Amino acid sequence: MISLASATAADSNSVLVDRRREAISSEPETAVATAVERVARPVVSFDQAREIAEQYGTPTLVISRSVLAETYRSMKAALPNVEMFYAAKANSDVAILRTLCLEGSSVDVCSYREMQSAMLAGFKPEQMIHTHPCKTVQNLLDCYNEGLRWFTYDCVGELEKIAAHTPDVNLILRLAASSSSSLINLSAKFGCDPLDAPKLAAEALSRGMSVRCLSFHVGSQCLDPSDFSRMLKKARTAWDGCVAAGAQLEVLDIGGGFPAPYRASVMTIHEYCSALAAALEEHFGDLPIRIIAEPGRGMVAECMTLITKVLGRSVRGGLPWYFIDDGVYGSFSGKLFDHADFELVTENAEYRTRSRCVVAGPTCDSHDVVSIDQELPELEVGELLLVPTMGAYSNASASGFNGLDIARIIEVE
Ligand SMILES: *Cc1c(COP(=O)(O)O)cnc(C)c1O
Repeated sequence: MISLASATAADSNSVLVDRRREAISSEPETAVATAVERVARPVVSFDQAREIAEQYGTPTLVISRSVLAETYRSMKAALPNVEMFYAAKANSDVAILRTLCLEGSSVDVCSYREMQSAMLAGFKPEQMIHTHPCKTVQNLLDCYNEGLRWFTYDCVGELEKIAAHTPDVNLILRLAASSSSSLINLSAKFGCDPLDAPKLAAEALSRGMSVRCLSFHVGSQCLDPSDFSRMLKKARTAWDGCVAAGAQLEVLDIGGGFPAPYRASVMTIHEYCSALAAALEEHFGDLPIRIIAEPGRGMVAECMTLITKVLGRSVRGGLPWYFIDDGVYGSFSGKLFDHADFELVTENAEYRTRSRCVVAGPTCDSHDVVSIDQELPELEVGELLLVPTMGAYSNASASGFNGLDIARIIEVE
């Protein structure tokens, strides 16, 4: 992780304005972006990208500290009563964790390795919750021994595991959520039926353990905040049932799901979080409790941009094909694992004739194709492309398949 002294905060702000305009003008005609929409935009200009490529090579992922800090502040401003526990799973790069720690965030981890990264970045165990509903005993013990005290369960089996090894923890009971607008369902695997929550709380109490928190996750890339509203209503019923069963609940954890702009724009942070704040007020406003959230994608996706280079070109089946030096086994892994549809930004796109083409990654696998339906200018070998919104679930799930290096990560102001 290297800081580029040459890129100052003022530079990167003016770059943002420029990039935003460019991102808007290169939107497909169907998506009419307005000034208030949240659109994908690179955190560096092409001039900066060339400088970085010359110095560090490609592919390189660039983290903008100021963009990340700004996202955190916007979320906090729109949800002043909600404590942020950044979901380290989305991107556990220490530079990202360090910025969020300095901004005052807490952190959600699901393994000891994530906990170690968070500590390296400055987080204390008291600022962490562990949200994996089915942990190995080793994972549980390592995190416990390091000082973490908030752990998740969603069934009797996990409860028994925790009771046997670390009975004096604060339990988080995870509820399953159904959401209609989320791209990725995170309740297909975890979370109890909200109707079973009081019974599961009673199971904990009967073992002398304390259930302190209810949690849920509406699903990732949740486009419509009314999904939160519907879930909050069910969570309130579950909450009251657990309290009636004797649980001393004091924290509601509304999970992640906050969306980020890819090729499609999304609601602004302010608009989205304001709707969420109103729903929280409606369903939990009468309770003197702590409310926490675990944004992953919504917090970090926009702060990282990929710089990748065109390695080769050909024409296949009448279509131009371009081969670039990063692909679905690398930073574009989110295309496979996360259904992300990344926008490819080319220099001066608005002044060049564009046509449909295929853009493929550098491995020998035929599935390693990053785009088949974007209209791009005729690209030169050696030309750089910028790919915005690469901060979440990209490097986190990249591999070194084919013996190729995964992208280097650098940080700019
Ligand atoms: C993945 C995950 C998150 C983060 O979700 P996003 O959709 O990226 O905000 C938060 N909490 C839990 C328990 C998760 O598994």
